[in-house]
Amino acid sequence: MAVALIVAAGRGERLGSDRPKAFVPLAGRPMLEWSVDALRAVETVETIVVALPAGALEMAPEGTLAVEGGVHRSQSVRQALRAVGDGEPVIVHDAARPLARPELFERALAQLEVSPAEAVIAAGPVYDTIKEVAADGRTVARTLDRSRLWAVQTPQVFRRTALERALNNASDELLRSATDDAWLIERAGGVVEVVEADRENIKITTPGDLAIAELFLTRRARLG
Ligand code: C5P
Repeated sequence: MAVALIVAAGRGERLGSDRPKAFVPLAGRPMLEWSVDALRAVETVETIVVALPAGALEMAPEGTLAVEGGVHRSQSVRQALRAVGDGEPVIVHDAARPLARPELFERALAQLEVSPAEAVIAAGPVYDTIKEVAADGRTVARTLDRSRLWAVQTPQVFRRTALERALNNASDELLRSATDDAWLIERAGGVVEVVEADRENIKITTPGDLAIAELFLTRRARLG
């Protein structure tokens, strides 16, 4: 049976809210609850651990196990992984992506099952042209080949030993610079695969993102 870690310990200052981002209301419910519900609908998920800011542990949704998160995202993942009981594989998901559907978690899990990879990560092909800008912050250094670029998201699904090894061997410095956990596997030579996510799996960073997420949820409710 799988275990799921939801990292929700970010402060979310760019949302301009007085509460941690995971508890900002989205379509009438705390943002975190949307991810918890999606994971509860995945049959193979046995345990859900939520990493929360210090002082917010009592706000964890019923039936989840709350742990205090770390200063940086991957430290929160490490704390949650240490707290979770037995279970394999490990799903890591950001509370900041409340629109991930059960079907996306299931596809990532199914792909890992038949793949030799250490991790399968949700991602979407990039539709914008991406250019690298020089250190002056203005001059274009080069244009990347868009046909091979993917924007990476969560969920990310890991073989447990690979994730444990990657997180436990990493220095605090390295965890600080990790913007996703799969990178820690890649840098150790591990194989990571992408699974294509639908376009609705957006990350909530600004008030505008919240408005877009509400529109998607309204449309879902209408379409059933
Ligand atoms: O800050 P960012 O938007 O990249 O955070 C992505 C996810 O990681 C969010 O769900 C946030 O709550 C979580 N996070 C965390 N612990 C931190 C920083 C971020 O659990 N120290």
